[in-house]
Amino acid sequence: MIIGIDDTDSREGMCTTYLGAVLISRLKKAGFTVREVRLIRLNPNVKFKTRGNAAIAIEADGDLEEGFALACAAVEELAEFDGVETNPGVAVVAERPDPAFYHQALQDFCTIAEAEAVLETWGARYRGYKNRRGLIGAAAAIASDLPDSTAELLAYRDPSCWGTHRQIDEESFFTAEAATFPQTWDTVDTVNSTVVCVPHTPDPVLFGIRGVSPAWVTLARSYLETELPALEQIYRTNQGTDAHLVEGVIGRLLDGRSYRLDGTVTAVPVTGQGGHVTLLLEGEDGATLPAMAYEPTKGFRDIIRALIPGDQVAVTGSYKGGSLNLEKLQVRTMADAVTRRPPLCAACTRRMTSAGRGQGYKCRHCGEKSAEPEVKMQQRTLACRWYEVPSVARRHLAKPLCRGTGPAPDPCPEQ
Ligand code: ATP
Repeated sequence: MIIGIDDTDSREGMCTTYLGAVLISRLKKAGFTVREVRLIRLNPNVKFKTRGNAAIAIEADGDLEEGFALACAAVEELAEFDGVETNPGVAVVAERPDPAFYHQALQDFCTIAEAEAVLETWGARYRGYKNRRGLIGAAAAIASDLPDSTAELLAYRDPSCWGTHRQIDEESFFTAEAATFPQTWDTVDTVNSTVVCVPHTPDPVLFGIRGVSPAWVTLARSYLETELPALEQIYRTNQGTDAHLVEGVIGRLLDGRSYRLDGTVTAVPVTGQGGHVTLLLEGEDGATLPAMAYEPTKGFRDIIRALIPGDQVAVTGSYKGGSLNLEKLQVRTMADAVTRRPPLCAACTRRMTSAGRGQGYKCRHCGEKSAEPEVKMQQRTLACRWYEVPSVARRHLAKPLCRGTGPAPDPCPEQ
């Protein structure tokens, strides 16, 4: 059977993955064989999400009715029912269904009625609590299809510590990254000298290590010195795979979807108040799109600022409110960075001035004239390659460049 669960947490606490980890240990105690555990990220633009729009799916062998009862009992005991936007959903199916609903929830939007309709066609046992919205994520996680996948090891705190300061030795996280990158990533942000895999929220997560396989995240974990976790679980996930992206065309984008698209820079990038940088891109048919690099993307904004009109780029990111929130950018071709100014006088070597529109240049000192400006080719600081936001600003689903840049999924290591 596959058990899907979603929407059990609120900003005040809990985490659906923790509830899943507790359920897994209860299933094992009850004699179930747990085959695989998935942490599935869905459309990052869904407004009801608490944090990262995650749902979980547990594949296990055992009695379906008993599995459903154990899952519902865990949700009823642990979910944050008081949260205004906490609407848990539990679903259990006998076999993995067609992935269409997963793709819709990952790249688009779904309604609660659509989730209930697919659960009916799958012959699922399901229960939605409060407004039942969690059934969307529960059904999507069950139907998840992972042609490319990564692993995450999540460690959870003892309930007596929840809401208190997390005891960690920061240095050990940098050691883990140094020993295992690029097979693990986003443990720390080396450029911004920050530990990124430890949340600051009151939820049960102590840390999460992301990597190519269970073996690599386990190795990275072995370097960490922290308070004693109460529970640890490794998940197979769609994080770091770009699974949320669809090919897009500027001028034909739909709000709330995430795209990979091509464009030409049409204006010098502008830095706004608060530090966000706006890059204006033009598509093939002349439609334009502002692409944004916000303040948390730190040094990535310098890459954007170094672009000039005429540069051809590919970009990835979410389209929301008329602009694209940049995740990655590929410089494909670079325009010549040319500066023109009045030439030096050939007679007296002083700088000439304009002699009027279309009149060339004139030396104010000796009267010498010149028709041509001084033209200088400036050295570009960029290279024709992909650039990405730093770890501190990376979205869960965004594929880090250390995993490769090809459009096809990189080979999935044994999970
Ligand atoms: P956490 O990451 O801490 O588990 P969260 O960010 O996953 O929290 P949820 O509390 O699960 O947030 O809330 C997301 C809600 O949005 C869920 O009810 C889920 O069913 C629903 N949802 C997920 N994807 C979609 C979608 N594509 N369209 C509509 N609703 C969605």
